[in-house]
Amino acid sequence: MKKACEGFSGSIKHTFDEIAAAREKFSYALNRRETGTVIKVSAGIAIVSGLPGIGFEELVKFSDGLYGIAFNVDEEEVGVVLLGDHCLLEAGSEAERTGRVMDAPAGCGLIGRVVSPIGEPLDGGGPVVFERRLPIEREAPGITDRLAVSVPLQTGIKAIDALIPIGRGQRELILGDRQTGKTSIAVDTIINQRGQDVICIYCAIGQRTSSVAKAVAHLKEKGAMDYTVAVVTEGGDAPGLQYITPYAATSIAEYFMQKGRDVLIVYDDLTHHARAYRELSLLLRRPPGREAFPGDIFYIHSRLLERATHLAPELGGGSLTALPIIETEAQNISAYIPTNLISITDGQIYLSPKLFELGVLPAIDIGKSVSRVGGKAQWGAYRSVAGDLKLAYAQFEELEAFARFGARLDENTRKIIEHGRRIREILKQPESEPASVPEQITSLLALINGRFDEIPLDSVRDAERALKKAAAGLPESLVKSFFSQSKLDKESRETILAAAEKALSQFRRTP
Ligand code: ATP
Ligand code: MG
Repeated sequence: MKKACEGFSGSIKHTFDEIAAAREKFSYALNRRETGTVIKVSAGIAIVSGLPGIGFEELVKFSDGLYGIAFNVDEEEVGVVLLGDHCLLEAGSEAERTGRVMDAPAGCGLIGRVVSPIGEPLDGGGPVVFERRLPIEREAPGITDRLAVSVPLQTGIKAIDALIPIGRGQRELILGDRQTGKTSIAVDTIINQRGQDVICIYCAIGQRTSSVAKAVAHLKEKGAMDYTVAVVTEGGDAPGLQYITPYAATSIAEYFMQKGRDVLIVYDDLTHHARAYRELSLLLRRPPGREAFPGDIFYIHSRLLERATHLAPELGGGSLTALPIIETEAQNISAYIPTNLISITDGQIYLSPKLFELGVLPAIDIGKSVSRVGGKAQWGAYRSVAGDLKLAYAQFEELEAFARFGARLDENTRKIIEHGRRIREILKQPESEPASVPEQITSLLALINGRFDEIPLDSVRDAERALKKAAAGLPESLVKSFFSQSKLDKESRETILAAAEKALSQFRRTP
């Protein structure tokens, strides 16, 4: 009994001590709330008055949990871009300053999830677990924090890896008319990162629900969601939400990059992003410029893509590779948004509807595509084949036009055309069938050395399949040497060509 009382009085004393300490520490402070009134609401935006202290891009809270971003800050009123349904709002509602900017949740818990840019789960998989919230607009790393692009990012697509190589930390634009296979290239690249220690972010902006569902289902089926985060807004979402999607996705990507990881981000697509921004700007009565886009349309994309980089080792050495997608209209790559993005990025992959119609898939127009920095990062073995391949293909394309007129061709021209046709056949690749580096090197080396030239065009596919098996049997030390910056030596070439010859001889025409 005594013991219990002792304990009791002791615990009271302890509590009193705690209260006394807390009282000592406690200080009074006024909690200032700054509220204003909504005076006008239209699709996607609200005009608020009575928030004189508000900062540019500050988050504004409305009733019913609706948020917005202060976009136009005037003396009298503030133009706020809404991050949700404007139907929740009416003139006279209260608007409150939050004193912070928009942020996005980031952390390993997001991997495998499909989320909205504000971190809401869209996959029905329960709440999103995150470690930190990061502001969606962040400054890009400075020049001294960056390193040159030096490691390739293999897409598994032969035409890209050989002729338009992409390096980790690069920004490569994918552009083409609608339905030319833009998303397929990006999704295949994500699928090929399996086992490559790359975290992928698939950022869908204002897409059709069916397209997003198809892409995510495809990633899941191929096991790619194990290392991928999908950040999604659909066409029906508020334009404000669509506008912040790529910035939020980039902050999620930067979280991993700053932990020293290599990250790949796909923006599908920035045309929708530009349109959402145009819509908001026009509603906010900003002056329209070319194609009715506002004056700062270049800046919204350049500040986004500048965040892609290869960080210096002191900062962890991570990288962020960006694959922005743009939809062109009637193959016009010199329209406003495409030219802007071509000048911001380090190269472009142009997809031609004509090639798509001809069944040349992926429909990459090699003549109009370029990679300005990836060549330095490309594995050396590719450099042994890429030069000849590009030249032979360019010659073929030029001569093919003549051949169509039915002109009589000399022997040399005929050979160039036959060789070119085989190059085109080998560069064709079905969707989600990525080719490994040894497979690519073996078939490209055999190709430029004319090993396919005597094989009938309709057997080239089968012949390549046989070659794939031969590539799997190459000596391990040789395969290892493919993943270095040194070119193929004579001996390696001979070993590969001998293996190729063995596999291909059965497909040759018998006289
Ligand atoms: P949108 O403009 O609607 O976004 P998109 O340019 O992203 O279209 P995709 O959706 O990637 O194009 O592809 C269009 C169609 O082409 C799809 O049905 C896809 O399956 C097919 N396709 C794309 N690439 C290939 C390929 N290499 N082989 C076979 N089919 C392909
Ligand atoms: Mg698409």
